[in-house]
Amino acid sequence: MATDDKASVNPAPAEAGRDFIRDIVQADLDAGRVKAVVTRFPPEPNGYLHIGHAKAICLNFGIAEEFGGRCHLRFDDTNPTKEEQEYIDAIERDVRWLGFDWGKHLYHASDYFERLYGWAEDLIRAGLAYVDDQSQDEIRTNRGTLTEPGKNSPFRDRPVEENLDLFRRMRAGEFGNGARVLRAKIDMTSGNINLRDPVLYRILNAPHPRTGTTWKIYPSYDFAHGQSDAIEGITHSICTLEFEDHRPLYDWCIANLNVPSKPHQYEFARLNLTYTVLSKRVLTELVRGGHVTGWDDPRMPTIAGLRRRGVPPEAIRDFIKRIGVAKANSLVDVGMFEFSVREALNKSALRRMAVLKPLKLVIENYPDGQSEELDAVNHPDNPAAGSRKIKFGRELYIEQDDFMENPPKKFFRLSPGMEVRLRYAYFITCREVVKNAKGEVVELRCTYDPATKGGNAPDGRKVKATIHWVSAAHAIAAEVLLYNPLFVKPDPSGAENFTADLNPNSLEVLDGARVEPALADAKPEVPVQFERQGYFCLDPASKPERLVFVRTIGLRDTWAKDQAKEKAAG
Ligand code: ATP
Ligand code: MG
Repeated sequence: MATDDKASVNPAPAEAGRDFIRDIVQADLDAGRVKAVVTRFPPEPNGYLHIGHAKAICLNFGIAEEFGGRCHLRFDDTNPTKEEQEYIDAIERDVRWLGFDWGKHLYHASDYFERLYGWAEDLIRAGLAYVDDQSQDEIRTNRGTLTEPGKNSPFRDRPVEENLDLFRRMRAGEFGNGARVLRAKIDMTSGNINLRDPVLYRILNAPHPRTGTTWKIYPSYDFAHGQSDAIEGITHSICTLEFEDHRPLYDWCIANLNVPSKPHQYEFARLNLTYTVLSKRVLTELVRGGHVTGWDDPRMPTIAGLRRRGVPPEAIRDFIKRIGVAKANSLVDVGMFEFSVREALNKSALRRMAVLKPLKLVIENYPDGQSEELDAVNHPDNPAAGSRKIKFGRELYIEQDDFMENPPKKFFRLSPGMEVRLRYAYFITCREVVKNAKGEVVELRCTYDPATKGGNAPDGRKVKATIHWVSAAHAIAAEVLLYNPLFVKPDPSGAENFTADLNPNSLEVLDGARVEPALADAKPEVPVQFERQGYFCLDPASKPERLVFVRTIGLRDTWAKDQAKEKAAG
């Protein structure tokens, strides 16, 4: 749309990414078919939300925001055996955390049970629905296949009065679970299996989190969804591609019922991510089977897990914007997500020094018992973040990986005789290596050049590496949890076989880390950059006497590289 088109009431902002759904919305507004856009996000409260849901959330709430409409949060709570209050609470928390607000528009499919029931009776009276006494197996068998038509149920031509009577008795709880169902009377020979007399109601004598024991029958997804949309005045009912084949049934219900509005369903491709499983069933099994510590385990692709890992909501929104919305399913490289996380954290995270695998270093020409304070910037690109004082002394810790006794040609970090810069401090030279009885390096004896304070030599001499460190006397001991992808395969198998593809090294615990004193103030969900290492935040299970940090993400994509190397090595 041209930006000078002032006639339009709902101009899409210029920065909003365009996609085929937004084009449809814009066209409906332009043509006057729709006055105000109303969308909804309709989770089933049978698990926690994951990053795939974030795509649907950003799409539905995003469109409402961009076009000046509104988005409802509607719980699709039609299956009481799998739904729990814990999930309802988590879903609300996670949608809010992602940055979206449904205002007063919080709804539940269960709010509409009475109206849905009334519509079912209307269908019966119109000769468009019947009570079927066949067993579940018989119904399945008689439904036919993709190549064979189905067979009519022997109960298909029941008189209206008998259907009404049986349906009312189903509601009253006269029959056992699964004894009968209510089916739409459409076409058992349809090429679309969803139209072969789909089940509209099933008997389920189970208490519901909201309606208690009022109902003994529950509507199917297909009978609840479109009608809920119609009740709420949803203009664009946006769902994932697997519902494309359900659309004719969606439209059939809307066309044959006296509903207050005529919503339309549009389908988009669901998000699939490499090394990640986004099936709620598998995620539930990961939790129940103890493969992770819970729904908010930082390895989980859930919103709660990502949050605990330190991923900021803006990184998720940025990622969703970058991948766009398409009509064809695809597999997105998890590296794209990590790119968005690094982008966001590089901007926001304060810099700190932490040594994950410490090696002791003694500066022999630095006076024993002395210490001094040095200036360290909190963020190199943001002067407003200020600076802090860090303590320097005779005994330090550096990273084991920053030293090699017999370095290959291109190793420029510390080695015997080599001079390097200690970040924010001095040039030091390694003079001697101390080993234990097993021949392992346990300490480095070094000298420093007092003239290089702040990290520059007055004589202009250069060093090839700058390494991080902490003062042994001042550093705080901490545990650091390094999380790697939960699955070893880019395209892990779902369903029954997922355990075979679990990564046995998805968690590495480093229990001897030493971090600078400023990190005593670290907070959960607020990552800092451990210089040269990556982004880390405090784990909520951390205690003041035992700090625990979680790695949000490394600075570069080292994991993928290591995997490639391993593969190459056989
Ligand atoms: P299931 O695991 O049973 O398929 P679900 O993931 O579809 O469940 P719902 O609670 O029904 O869970 O999902 C709510 C909304 O989120 C639906 O509109 C669904 O289409 C959408 N959604 C679910 N998974 C994804 C995904 N991977 N990408 C995009 N949208 C998704
Ligand atoms: Mg679903």
